[in-house]
This record gives sequence, C-alpha cells and structure tokens, in this order.
Amino acid sequence: MYRNNTCGELRAENAGQNVTLAGWVQKVRNLGAMTFIDLRDRYGITQLVVEEHSAATVREAAGELGREFVVQATGTVRERSSKNTKIPTGNIEVALNELKILSRSQTPPFTIEEQSDGGDELRMRYRYLDLRRPPLQRNIIMRHRLAQSVREFLDREGFLEIETPFLIKSTPEGARDFVVPSRMNPGEFYALPQSPQQQKQLLMVSGYDRYFQIVRCFRDEDLRADRQPEFTQIDCEMAFVEREDVLEVFERMAKYIFKTVHGIDMPEAYPRMTWHEAMERYGCDKPDIRFGMEINDLSAEAKGRDFVVFDSAEYVGAIVAAGCASYTRKQIDELTEFVKRPQIGAKGLVWVRFEEDGNVKSSVDKFYSPDDLRAWGAKCGAKAGDLMLIISGDRRGSLNALCELRLEMGERLGLRDRSVFAPLWVVDFPLLEWDEESKRFFAMHHPFTSPKLEDTELFATDPGRVRANAYDFVVNGVELGGGSIRIHDSQLQARMFEVLGFTPEEAEHQFGFLLNAFKYGAPPHGGIAYGLDRWCAVLGGADSIRDFIAFPKNNSGRDVMLDAPSTIAQAQLDELYLSTHAPEKS
Ligand code: ASP
Repeated sequence: MYRNNTCGELRAENAGQNVTLAGWVQKVRNLGAMTFIDLRDRYGITQLVVEEHSAATVREAAGELGREFVVQATGTVRERSSKNTKIPTGNIEVALNELKILSRSQTPPFTIEEQSDGGDELRMRYRYLDLRRPPLQRNIIMRHRLAQSVREFLDREGFLEIETPFLIKSTPEGARDFVVPSRMNPGEFYALPQSPQQQKQLLMVSGYDRYFQIVRCFRDEDLRADRQPEFTQIDCEMAFVEREDVLEVFERMAKYIFKTVHGIDMPEAYPRMTWHEAMERYGCDKPDIRFGMEINDLSAEAKGRDFVVFDSAEYVGAIVAAGCASYTRKQIDELTEFVKRPQIGAKGLVWVRFEEDGNVKSSVDKFYSPDDLRAWGAKCGAKAGDLMLIISGDRRGSLNALCELRLEMGERLGLRDRSVFAPLWVVDFPLLEWDEESKRFFAMHHPFTSPKLEDTELFATDPGRVRANAYDFVVNGVELGGGSIRIHDSQLQARMFEVLGFTPEEAEHQFGFLLNAFKYGAPPHGGIAYGLDRWCAVLGGADSIRDFIAFPKNNSGRDVMLDAPSTIAQAQLDELYLSTHAPEKS
C-alpha cells in the first residue's frame, strides 16, 4: 500500500496517529528551520512538515522537491499551532519521519491551483495537468455522480442498459455525419451515430420495452460553447407509451438528478409551454423563465403611422427593461451594436424611456405622440422608470433578436442567477420546417417523430401545419433534452419520407431496415435523450460543456493535446483506397 490515508481526511482527532500519504507537491515553503509541504490529491491538501531534527534523509528529500513531484510521506499527525480555516485539514499537519520521491516533475507550464495562470490553449494542450486542478476535479466528479444517479434511477424503473454500435449508417439528426472508411469494403463508409435513434426504435420492435444508454453521439457541426463534435446523451426509449407516460418518468428523473446531484427539492410539476407560445413570449424554443421581461407584439399599435421602418416590417416587438429609463446614450448604443451583430442581425433598435417624472422620450418621437407611446407602455406593462426596447423586421428574425436582447438585459440586470433553476417542457413543435433555399421540408426534430394524433389528417393535405408529438426539456434557457412519440407504422413512416423529399427508392436504401421492421409488429413507442454534458454545465452554473468533459476538443474541433485530427500515412490511405486533395496546410 502506498498510502493509508488521503490528503483530504485527517482532522484534529487523528492527532498522534502515524500515517502514510501519497500525492503531488502543491507548494514547498522552506523557512530555514522548518519546511512546509502542501501535499495534494483529489481529496484535498494536507500540510507536511520537516523540521531541523527530522531524519537527514527526510530533510534531503524535502530539499529536492519541486511543484508536482509525486511523493510518499509518512509521519505523525499533530495539531497545528497556526490553523488554516480555509481547508478541512487545516487544523493538523503531519510531521514527517519518511519522505520518498516517487516521481519527479518538470516545472508545470501553469499553476495547478483553484485559479490557474494558464491560458485556454495552453491548458488544453496539457489537459492532464489542468485536470489536476480542483475546479475540474469537482466537475468530473459531479459528472460521475450524475451518471450514477441516472443509472440508479433508470435501473429501478426497469430500464435496461443496452449498447448499440458506433459503426453504423447515417442517422439523420440534422447535422453532418462523421464517416469511417471500411478497409474490408473498399469505397464504402460507416457513419458514426448522430444518435442511436434507429437502433433504440428497433429495440422496441424487439420487445426491450424500456431501454437506456449513456452513449457518445457524433455530429459534425459548427462548434459553440454547448456543442462538441462528440458528446454524451442519456438516451432512452419506452414502448407502449403516450407522451404523458414519457414526460412523467423523465420529469421524475430530472427531479431525482436535481435532488441527488445538487441537493435541490423540486416538488412542483414543471410548467409546460407550447412551442408557439414560447416563440411568441420569449422569441425562441428554449426560454429562460428565471425572469419575466417577456416579448410583446406591438405590430398593430406601431404600424400605419408613416414610420416606414415599422410600416415595412412584418413584425414589431418590444421588451421592457425595468428600471432602465436612466440608461445613457452610450448604454443604448451598446445595446444597438449588440443586436446589430451579424449573429443576431437586427437592423436597429428603437427605444422608449418612461421617465420617473412621467415624461416619455423615444428615438421615434417624430412619428408617435407621447400618448401613443404611453399606450404602448400600457400594453407592455411598462412603469415609470422603465426602458422599452423595440425591434422590427421579419417575424422570425425579430423574435430571435428580441430573445437575444432579453437574455442580454437579463444578464445585465442580474436576473439570471446561476443558483436558480427554472425547468420547463416545451411541447407541440411543428413537425416540419420549410427551407426556402432548397424548397423542401425538413424534419424539425427527426424523421421518426410522430405527428400529433389530431393532426394526422392534415399530414396528407397541409404538412406544414402539422404539429409533432415532440417535447424538449429546457432549464435556464438551455435545451437539456428532447424526444418524441415515434411513428410506428410503416406506411405513415413512408409518407413522412415522401414529404421530406425522399423517393421511395432513396427511403428504401437509407431506411429500408426500419420500414421493414415496422412490418413485423412494432409497438407504439417514444423516448427522449438528455444531454449529459449540458446537464453538468447547467448544474455547475457554467456556460461551456468543455469543463465537464475530461478530454474535449477546441472550437476548431481539434484535440490540441493529441494533435488530432492529423494526416495519415500513404500506406494507410492506400489500404483504404483513399486519396485526398485537401489543400496544403500553411
Ligand atoms: N435522437 C434524438 C436526439 O438525439 C432524441 C430522441 O428523439 O429521443 O435528439
């Protein structure tokens, strides 16, 4: 045994015990007569002390130590004379009688402390060192807890954990596939799963009526803080269920996670909102309902008054920022710049100040009387001291910009408290989305999602208006999961592929196995996938999922530690019958 205690567990009551610890040297303070060593492992930090009268071998070894050396230290626990109240072991120290260097370390490229001095790129390159830091260790441990909670819960509910293959055929989840060439089948490729969607549905056909898997999914898409090319889903499917059955189990699971991983009780039922309502009130399908500041439609009031910007707009919408009437010109300019950023794309920002003394001022005073503006204020619930911010243009774009502006204002006003969690279900998504460019429908969720029963008729006549039997789980403006009741009828599924523009041959080529399976007795089924990484980030109060993944990729999809992706040898290409014409790297 290298150790009989960890660096996080000794307390005053252990005084007098002889202990052996092992870990990394966090810090050495040589005060001449005494040397203090902070020894760290993932459980904590313990102070070791070497004194003038300590054994010569101990003093010698202590003299050689540097940051991140790995040592084994044996000694006697004693109460400290000057206590450190900041750490749980701060009442004690270990007076050493043996000290063995197990491994030496070069000076690490950044400090391995709660707050590091290393930049992102550097820390990514030395991820194995960054992972030694307490914040990352807490994240990784929390991730473990979450995964264990999920397994406990689902096992108790009768779900079976079943693995599905990674080398498969494309699953359309709306992203590009990562593909893997097959040496044994020259010129042919596997696709890595964007999700195990079809496999889990096939498992329902096979009678495994409650399935789950904590599974890696692969999507080749542009990366953002909450996206990685490979990420982990808690993927679930149930047979003989309707939407309510799925939502009931997975709401309970969400509450179980909040309770067991974060210690929060959430007795109330989670609110539900239709997709349509979410879009109208919050401008997006993943509303952050920790705060109000809802969007108001001012189109009727604002149009028809010869203000060409509004008159030519499809939609005029407003939010009211409470207590912001005193915003300076500069602050409003900042907000205008914010909404005009290309990612947001608004043309401009109109403002109305409802001043404390009852006066109303606005950037469109020329076109609207104070009474007009007061009427807007009344409609939107603005009070004296509030600032109204208005965006106009096409409906979708304006709602999106108002959504971003609302979140920005929420942030500025401190309304997005990370220790508060506001979950909800968003339901009744449209089944299809029309793409003007390619002049065709796309599945809003994925092509296996069932239309709502009451809209099945419409599916034959006006597919664009059909609502899906789909649901998303949203917390604090983050989509933590989504799922649907599936189509389990081969004819309806074939009709879906047809609406999506697949010829019968293409549908057969791509999804023949599923259509076939449905001909052999498919139970009604539905499911959901929760994003494990996003759950971690939301619980951890972080924006980025990266710090909850042991070895993540950077924004260009690179693993900078491994230096992947990388070129491969000509022989390997030959073996796969591949050639590349990628441009030379500069
Ligand atoms: N496969 C879906 C997804 O990855 C989840 C589901 O419908 O269960 O988003």
